Amino acid sequence: MAEKLKGKPVADAMKEELIGRVEALKARGITPKLGIIRVGARPDDLFYEGGIKKTSDGIGLAYQVFEHPEDVSQEELEKSVTAVGADSSIHGILMFAPLPKHLNEKKIRSLIPVEKDVDCMTLGSAGKVFADDLTGFPPCTPTACMEMLKFYNIPLKGKKVTVVGRSMVVGKPVAMLLLREHATVTICHSRTENLEQACADADILVAAVGRAKMIGPSYVKPGQVVIDVGINEDPDNPGKYCGDVDFEAVEPIVEKITPVPGGVGSVTTIVLCKHTVMACEMQNS
Ligand code: NAP
Repeated sequence: MAEKLKGKPVADAMKEELIGRVEALKARGITPKLGIIRVGARPDDLFYEGGIKKTSDGIGLAYQVFEHPEDVSQEELEKSVTAVGADSSIHGILMFAPLPKHLNEKKIRSLIPVEKDVDCMTLGSAGKVFADDLTGFPPCTPTACMEMLKFYNIPLKGKKVTVVGRSMVVGKPVAMLLLREHATVTICHSRTENLEQACADADILVAAVGRAKMIGPSYVKPGQVVIDVGINEDPDNPGKYCGDVDFEAVEPIVEKITPVPGGVGSVTTIVLCKHTVMACEMQNS
């Protein structure tokens, strides 16, 4: 049986550390604060927002939600994002995406100041991530994967890692963070030939595909560590969700595996808080 790499112990350890860092900032008269920009009221966004509020409360991080109607104009939203960006009491900004179709999302993202861009919404942040400039924040999910690997002492230096998925939200940035730790990274996608072999060759497999249970036994090998980033509706259990990995089939083969739910996803919110605290520290250093 594989060791289950659960997210909760990772999130708990990060929470403990952050409480101390927030206290230290407050002792200097500074309260770190996250600005949350939301357009409309999609259930997924509201669910994530609820989690952010709870986690923030747990570490003493302040937050403010800037809510806009679904039909907000481009001009109105630009004004709001610019104002939040200029507000010196706000150190980190999260904007729920995608925005409604009538809005120019690229333009609106670009208005977030890079130093407050705690979820890598801007090209400026992405550039920093790709250039190993530590003042740029990667998206929260790739950082959550790295926190999991670090917490469970999974060596990366010189190891073969295959990432399935090349999105700007997960695949590409996680590949850059792995490279930063001296892994030898292969990035796969929908046009990759012989995907099963590319996956089975790896010491560590990161699945960020967005396809329920796609990674089955033929994609893995004994001794492997599997990090499942996927969050999909479970076709076999309506109302539940599952990963990109067929956990039941893969778990007996590999050495370590993150479950879904209860794996990477449980670390994402605390990463957002960590990035906000870091942003606050940098803005006040
Ligand atoms: P995405 O933008 O849809 O990207 C999916 C990637 O997988 C693409 O690069 C795509 O290749 C590749 N792909 C799709 N089908 C494939 C196939 N049959 N074989 C090989 N590659 C294939 O998704 P995403 O935003 O990166 O998210 C990936 C997964 O992570 C989703 O399940 C999402 O729900 C989850 N997620 C989790 C968190 C979290 O907090 N845990 C956060 C964000 C996302 P092409 O580029 O060739 O199309």
